[in-house]
Amino acid sequence: MYLILLGAPGAGKGTQAAFLSKEMKLAHIASGDLFRKNAQQGTRLGLLAKTYMDKGALVPNDITIGMILERIKEPDCGKGFILDGFPRNNEQAEALEKALKEVGKDITGVIYLKVAEDELLKRLSGRWICQSCQTPYHEVAARPKVAGKCDKCGGKLYQRDDDKPETIKKRLVEYFKQTQPLISFYTGRGKLLEVEGSGEAEAVWGSLKAALKAVKSPSARSRGA
Ligand code: AMP
Repeated sequence: MYLILLGAPGAGKGTQAAFLSKEMKLAHIASGDLFRKNAQQGTRLGLLAKTYMDKGALVPNDITIGMILERIKEPDCGKGFILDGFPRNNEQAEALEKALKEVGKDITGVIYLKVAEDELLKRLSGRWICQSCQTPYHEVAARPKVAGKCDKCGGKLYQRDDDKPETIKKRLVEYFKQTQPLISFYTGRGKLLEVEGSGEAEAVWGSLKAALKAVKSPSARSRGA
């Protein structure tokens, strides 16, 4: 299965992709995590990407597309993948479609996590992330058992540089301008599955699993199930 998780920053793509990846044993590829890992390691790609990320801007398409198309060739993607944070604009979506077509593959489905803008702002402004396993926490809605420590792996929690109020606003502007048009792009291709993304992560996961049944059985999707 070749799945895409589409949604605004803070919609819960990372959390739901982690559930999906565990359940379906598919590679979870998060473009933002790849950029942050490169930035932490001080690679050329990472340092360049950071200059855009810190401003809340998208990293240029040639860099991003090259990185993802290389990543999906790796052996762990043999059975499929879940893309989280990619594509983020039409050019990226078209490049992905073309690359998959060249190897006789196609996107199976695009899960759009729909969350209202005021909810996105609330989620992003209180977000803390585990430095080791990337599990997200929230200072009000999802606190760790021990302050500053990840419940899952004990890793240190940190606040992303681009989760500062001014940068959050810019990231949302970029999302509405560049990424939201992908909803009609994938609707036009008959691939879009809309899932209500507000509410508790477990409840969203329940809705997502129900929506995925339509992907596994395309006749159910055409009946509108
Ligand atoms: P994320 O972790 O998905 O919120 O991404 C963090 C930042 O990484 C974004 O604000 C962008 O600067 C950059 N980024 C991640 N994915 C992409 C992409 N597909 N295209 C361009 N920039 C991206």
